[in-house]
Amino acid sequence: MFEQAAAQYATPFHLYDEAGIRQNARDLNKAFSWCKDFQEYFAVKALPNPAILRILKEEGCGVDCSSETELMLAESCGFTGREIMFSANAMPYEEFEHARKLGAYVNLDDITHIDILEKHGGIPETICCRFNPGGDFKIGTAIMGNPGDAKYGFTPAQLREGLTILKQKGARRFGLHAFLSSNNTDTGYYPALAKILFATAREMADATGLELAFINLSGGVGIPYLPDAQKTDIFAVGEGVRQAYEAVFPEGGVAIKTELGRWMTGPMGWLVTRAMHRKDTYKHYIGVDACAVNLMRPAMYGAYHHITVCGKGDLPCDHRYDVTGCLCENNDKFAIDRMLPEITEGDLLVIHDTGAHGHAMGYNYNGRLRSAEVLYATDGGYRLIRRAETPRDYFATLDMDECAAGLGLK
Ligand SMILES: *Cc1c(COP(=O)(O)O)cnc(C)c1O
Repeated sequence: MFEQAAAQYATPFHLYDEAGIRQNARDLNKAFSWCKDFQEYFAVKALPNPAILRILKEEGCGVDCSSETELMLAESCGFTGREIMFSANAMPYEEFEHARKLGAYVNLDDITHIDILEKHGGIPETICCRFNPGGDFKIGTAIMGNPGDAKYGFTPAQLREGLTILKQKGARRFGLHAFLSSNNTDTGYYPALAKILFATAREMADATGLELAFINLSGGVGIPYLPDAQKTDIFAVGEGVRQAYEAVFPEGGVAIKTELGRWMTGPMGWLVTRAMHRKDTYKHYIGVDACAVNLMRPAMYGAYHHITVCGKGDLPCDHRYDVTGCLCENNDKFAIDRMLPEITEGDLLVIHDTGAHGHAMGYNYNGRLRSAEVLYATDGGYRLIRRAETPRDYFATLDMDECAAGLGLK
């Protein structure tokens, strides 16, 4: 599949597997089919490409947006009203208004957002609030996150006060959201989060008289970046949440929503790049035609992304390489001290698990350009779903007619 795609499109590019993305959406929907009103709101920031969003729409998903352009993207793909979750943050006030105009659910991040929303779009009948329980988030004795250090959400006291104010201002139903751990492959993560949200929501409904409409479990379900790591069993996750649900809501009636990004598309994307340089100094380096602007996670988080070499899968991994890009920046490395088969110039390298927070986190440092995105469609064809940037794109925000003319860009 990678060689075929590379025969058609110049490297580097991200390749996405349509069938795999559809299968993940179907598995997730099945895992939560016990809940009558379950819906996934795909986190647009993970893979903001309209071709992908339309596929997910066909699979019954909504979208989770956190910016004006993400709202525009959702709108352009035909998402409307309750198919859109707007996760507020320290964002421009007009974005609240935009979300309300689309009829999206608004998920407030802070008690001060109540006044902002009232002035910019108005308080809706159904409102969602983001909860931050503070302290450490534990499953058993293992610390899985540190909500107390996170910038998001209402404290418990603010939540009670905020919901009371929202009721006075006309809200009748509420949803409760929290995101307490990122890239968590433990099947106990969602159930543990659900327990906290279910208990808190029930308490808040009793205290305020607002009706509880839904629980939003947000994102955070992880994927196995390491080759020997286990895939998160989404059916076990769904079953764990069901048990927690039935203990608190035996009568049902409360919807469940998720905002998965990484789990949905992460393993269904690959960055395809070609080895261009070999360098032997104190270490052995392979320079490829992609760089950190195409995939920031290794440089930014030291994240592991598995790498394979096309056509060399049967060869022993007996060479130790740093796989680098071309940025003038020493952390521009896709792998450090990675054991790989011997690589020669022209080899096609595949960097795995780039389907979420991959291309999307791209930037233009060093004047480098973002790559194309290609869809491996269910009909067996390869479709360009985003072209690579060109210098014209890079210069587009500059008011420099003369310069553009001088460069022959006009
Ligand atoms: C980033 C984000 C998500 C998706 O997170 P993943 O780790 O990709 O599952 C969901 N909801 C909100 C509000 C987010 O900011």
